[in-house]
Amino acid sequence: MSRQSGYDFDAIVIGAGPNGLASAITMARAGRSVLVYEAKETVGGGCRSAELTLPGFIHDVCSSVHPLGAGSPFFRSVPLAQHGLEWIHPPATGNSWSHSAKTGIKP
Ligand SMILES: Cc1cc2nc3c(=O)[nH]c(=O)nc-3n(C[C@H](O)[C@H](O)[C@H](O)COP(=O)(O)OP(=O)(O)OC[C@H]3O[C@@H](n4cnc5c(N)ncnc54)[C@H](O)[C@@H]3O)c2cc1C
Repeated sequence: MSRQSGYDFDAIVIGAGPNGLASAITMARAGRSVLVYEAKETVGGGCRSAELTLPGFIHDVCSSVHPLGAGSPFFRSVPLAQHGLEWIHPPATGNSWSHSAKTGIKP
């Protein structure tokens, strides 16, 4: 960002969702100074988690199934586990209802 604009950063990212954070990290890794603006009190965007019910119980606020996150080359390149991330892989990936009200399990 131009010093003439009054901002002393190479780039300003609006929004600290996964894409904004990935962009900011990529630019910072390239040696650029980056400012991230987030309107909410916490970062994460649609991938936030929060104590929505009882203390100690962390819930997904929006997204809850993350095959693209777990498979992302970028997310594998950042040490998210050191910051508490754990991908949980269920034994069944989902289910769907048939017209006869039986449930099909997708292994
Ligand atoms: C209900 C719901 C369920 C979903 N379920 C899944 C799922 O199961 N699996 C999956 O892979 N994806 C899911 N998604 C999609 C996933 O959440 C998005 O693809 C992902 O969050 C997009 O990331 P992003 O960084 O582009 O934007 P966002 O995550 O939307 O982040 C944008 C951020 O920018 C901030 N912002 C916006 N405007 C401004 C501003 N003017 N100034 C400052 N900050 C601003 C917002 O507060 C927000 O934090 C779901 C989304 C929703 C809404």
